[in-house]
Amino acid sequence: MKPSPLRIHRPKTIEEILELLSVHGTSGKIIAGGQSLVPVLNMRLAAPRNLIDITSAAGLDELEVVGDEIRVGALVSHRRLERDPATTSANPILADALRHVAHPAIRNRGTTVGSIAHADPNGEMPMILALTGGWVEVRSVRGARSLTTESLNVGPLETCLEPDELITSAVFPALRPGQRAGFDELARRSGDYGLAGVGMILSTDDNGVDRAGAEATITGLKAGFVSVTDIPDIIELDEFVAGTPLSQVSTILDDVISAIKGFIDPGGDIHASADYRRHLTGVIAGRLLKRLSRQRDGGGSPAGGSEMRQEGAR
Ligand SMILES: Cc1cc2nc3c(=O)[nH]c(=O)nc-3n(C[C@H](O)[C@H](O)[C@H](O)COP(=O)(O)OP(=O)(O)OC[C@H]3O[C@@H](n4cnc5c(N)ncnc54)[C@H](O)[C@@H]3O)c2cc1C
Repeated sequence: MKPSPLRIHRPKTIEEILELLSVHGTSGKIIAGGQSLVPVLNMRLAAPRNLIDITSAAGLDELEVVGDEIRVGALVSHRRLERDPATTSANPILADALRHVAHPAIRNRGTTVGSIAHADPNGEMPMILALTGGWVEVRSVRGARSLTTESLNVGPLETCLEPDELITSAVFPALRPGQRAGFDELARRSGDYGLAGVGMILSTDDNGVDRAGAEATITGLKAGFVSVTDIPDIIELDEFVAGTPLSQVSTILDDVISAIKGFIDPGGDIHASADYRRHLTGVIAGRLLKRLSRQRDGGGSPAGGSEMRQEGAR
């Protein structure tokens, strides 16, 4: 199918984008990488009369680590972010999750900010933004505001953004000393949306200071999910893990997994039943927690290395 008739605008500055958004309101739509919007237009699930193509606009392609913040401009592709060494060193969970976003060809065009704006519960990056405690910076002709994911995500495929608002960047906090982070998921085929995915940040008392051989102890754990919650809900699991030495992680696995399975509310579809998704989420969470407990650095799996793919899901 083809989209309904529409006019394409190609603004060159952020100010021009904001002006167009203000003039066209609900009849205008931003297009960035087009990897989610073009199928929607072609199937006529949306019929904006004005498409505002932001890809030629200056000032939206920043990608830098400033202090303990990773700043990702609206035009930064998934692939550029995935391959950025400074980002990976500041917080390896971004590259770890991005490796599971579609195929390289789609990651080359699709933007991480576009994915956050699209708010698909099957998307990895809205959840990673929530798990890391990140936020988006938003502008319109009316002014600027910052939104955490709790405010941004109001439902599946739904945000609180007004029709005249542009997300200029997403900001992901870096890991703090003693933290490890990772992501894993299982999809029916590599590159498909995951049947279930889990991201975790594990905090320990290992702050990099010489510990005279003493073993690090877990101080906190939080987890977020892909394809099994409607919006990026994060569960805090400190009560099940605090005080456990890293080498004793197997003693808390059952409690962590059962808390997670009680927290999520997956739906069933032609790809997997709700029960299977719940089971799978528990399996992935258990393996990810074990992996993080064994890692010596901040986390992240080796390139392309997913335990789920190596070991299977059952
Ligand atoms: C075959 C296929 C498989 C895929 N698999 C996955 C997957 O496994 N995981 C995953 O997460 N994604 C997947 N995607 C989607 C992909 O990640 C998209 O790139 C992403 O969801 C949207 O980014 P985009 O730049 O293409 O946005 P677009 O498609 O251009 O826009 C998406 C939406 O966001 C809005 N938008 C875009 N930028 C902004 C902005 N700066 N401010 C405000 N609103 C904005 C648009 O108006 C539109 O509503 C897949 C896509 C395809 C085609």
